[in-house]
Amino acid sequence: MHSTERRSFLKNSFVLASGALLGVPAHGQEKRSSGKAEPGQPKPADKKQIIRTLGRTGLRMPVVSMGVMNSGNPALVRAALEAGMTHFDTAHGYQKGRNEEMLGNVFKDYPRDAFTIATKVQSESGDSPAAVLDWLSKVDVSLKRLQMDSVDILYLHSVGSRERALAPAMLEALQKAKESGRTRFVGLSTHSNEPEVLDAAVESGVYDVVLTAVNFKQDHYPSVKAAIARAAKAGVGIVAMKTMAGGYYDRAKTLPINCKAALKFIVQDPHVTTAIPGFTTFDQLAENNSVNYDITLTEEERDSLAAGSLEGGLYCQQCSHCVSGCKNNVPIPSYMRAYMYTYGYRNLGLAHAVLSEIGTKQDPCLDCASCTAECVKGFPVRDRIADVRRVSEIPEEMLA
Ligand code: SF4
Ligand code: SF4
Repeated sequence: MHSTERRSFLKNSFVLASGALLGVPAHGQEKRSSGKAEPGQPKPADKKQIIRTLGRTGLRMPVVSMGVMNSGNPALVRAALEAGMTHFDTAHGYQKGRNEEMLGNVFKDYPRDAFTIATKVQSESGDSPAAVLDWLSKVDVSLKRLQMDSVDILYLHSVGSRERALAPAMLEALQKAKESGRTRFVGLSTHSNEPEVLDAAVESGVYDVVLTAVNFKQDHYPSVKAAIARAAKAGVGIVAMKTMAGGYYDRAKTLPINCKAALKFIVQDPHVTTAIPGFTTFDQLAENNSVNYDITLTEEERDSLAAGSLEGGLYCQQCSHCVSGCKNNVPIPSYMRAYMYTYGYRNLGLAHAVLSEIGTKQDPCLDCASCTAECVKGFPVRDRIADVRRVSEIPEEMLA
């Protein structure tokens, strides 16, 4: 899509999102319910919380939930609960397991039906019987950290292809996790090739939920949105992540994305049940939670998204266009994701984890006289790789 067409498409999308789509329930599932007003909490007493149903799971939750990945603060989780959020998303690998431990210590003081907990476990052992056992043993570690017998949603983490989504060993592992009571529902998370992975999730008949990257900065947003609609119509619950596309347009953090507008834009799609922004402060909690009561985009918000959609920014499309031009077959999209985590989210732990997955501390560009990898967004990939590689040198104990 050319930039003028894209700008026009987005502008129209933002207009539609604030008008026709607003109030159109996903298969009649959206309801508004009263929130309990708490003194000092960001819960507007005179407005109704917007609640949706997560596909065939039947789980009901506000349109904005808490992505806990960037926060180690139990007080913030309690405040989110008291403000009316009910769904909390973590992962086996976040903060080297401390994120799950922190949530376990918070949730042990609440009735089990007061919250919905989702965690994600990655498979690193291919598609074999050993991979099933390895993955399930990691799930058991997560449950122990969370101090729970069962989670509500268990995701196969970071699935980037149809082949991976349909890998027989992983489908078996997910079904075993469900049958054994380790989880009520299963899903997958994806932040690349989202349309292909969403369609594969439907095809499998196994996944109850898909946690997908989706935001206003995606060049392929129309195809992600269409795949979300297909999956939702098939009964798969849709949870949105990376709605804020890195949070900033620049590395120096002088150009912030209008995160509230970006969040509203995504949850205005009635096929998206909820989004999981990774907030870390009480002010951000208040701002995000306000969207649970009002998803209307103002004219100013629409304009800021339409203009921002054309900025290069920190958000890598994960399109892999650059890879074919790289003589060393460097996993550039992973480096660029680590770069966004470093300079957008300021989450060095997550960046470190991505770089560890890549698996080498050597400079992959060392023997290259000039960079031949072309980025569709004009990112200086060689410079960014050299810059973000430094994060892999930080000792793990300093990332706590
Ligand atoms: S300099 Fe560019 S082409 Fe060369 S290895 Fe690095 S990313 Fe690939
Ligand atoms: S670096 Fe550029 S070309 Fe490569 S995946 Fe990211 S956006 Fe696409």
